[in-house]
Amino acid sequence: MLKIIKNKLEQGYRTSKYPKTPITLNKRYRGVPQIKKNCSAALISKCADVCPQDAIDVEHGLIDLGRCVFCGQCETLSKGDFVTFTQNFELAAAKREHLLTDGNLPRLADNAKAHFKKLFGRSLQLRQVSAAGCNACEADTNVLNTPFFDLSRFGIQFVASPRHADGIHVTGPISINMRAALLTTYEAVPAPKVVIASGSCAISGGPFRGSPEVVGDLEKLLPVDLFIPGCPPHPLTTLHALLNYFK
Ligand code: SF4
Ligand code: SF4
Repeated sequence: MLKIIKNKLEQGYRTSKYPKTPITLNKRYRGVPQIKKNCSAALISKCADVCPQDAIDVEHGLIDLGRCVFCGQCETLSKGDFVTFTQNFELAAAKREHLLTDGNLPRLADNAKAHFKKLFGRSLQLRQVSAAGCNACEADTNVLNTPFFDLSRFGIQFVASPRHADGIHVTGPISINMRAALLTTYEAVPAPKVVIASGSCAISGGPFRGSPEVVGDLEKLLPVDLFIPGCPPHPLTTLHALLNYFK
């Protein structure tokens, strides 16, 4: 017992003070892109050619964060003259069209549904559905339950049964084989219910977009309330999204 108390004293309090205290991420992290306004069409076109996700809208000089996997190739090729990625992890959006951006994303809290805040602001239970994800999205969601993030201190928990949940949090490109299981899980959640698309795969199919083996876009199957970009989304991106959309 004494050993445990000694260990506790040595460890101290490890839970992050976010969101009361801001967190600065490592310089290598790629978050919200900042697009240069005066970039030439030729350079944007070159960036679009190397983009593995077809995520660059050449005509308007925008990036689709629902498709982007944050590989950084466009930033490297343009030497920052088209885009630089900031350390801002606040990437989530309430509407799919908001993800097509020059970096000025609308405030998520301004687009949240008021009745969801009222219903789930104090307690939100989610059922995670991995619809053929590569496990990175799932692992980085799981991280939210570690002592550092301690998601349950905000009244948000992942539960085992969809019947105990207020909504589903979907990762992966939705393989054809997972389609029925996903829809059955959704049906089992009592209304009113929330649908969250997490990661490039669930939003647009990600690297699997266009494959006949995947649905590739959760919106084709269900009404999505919250989009969380990334490949995978950083745990802080997910935490920011949940806190700003529901609290
Ligand atoms: S960072 Fe995004 S937009 Fe840029 S090349 Fe990679 S996938 Fe395409
Ligand atoms: S979005 Fe990226 S990390 Fe997430 S499941 Fe798809 S490939 Fe994996």
